[in-house]
Amino acid sequence: MEKKYVLNTKTKKYHIINGCRYSKNYLKSDTYMKEYYSEEDIIAENQNYVSRCKTCFKNK
Ligand SMILES: [Zn+2]
Repeated sequence: MEKKYVLNTKTKKYHIINGCRYSKNYLKSDTYMKEYYSEEDIIAENQNYVSRCKTCFKNK
């Protein structure tokens, strides 16, 4: 299974990987960028302190 989402722990925003320019170009070495398999995992770990990237989720 591939990791599909990435959370920026600085801005508390999560993205679909490759869903926007920003989540295409992040570096694996950026320790504040955390990858996840599912949105459920993000919510489970961070409750409501995170929000969706508007660009990545605009078609959902
Ligand atoms: Zn995004």
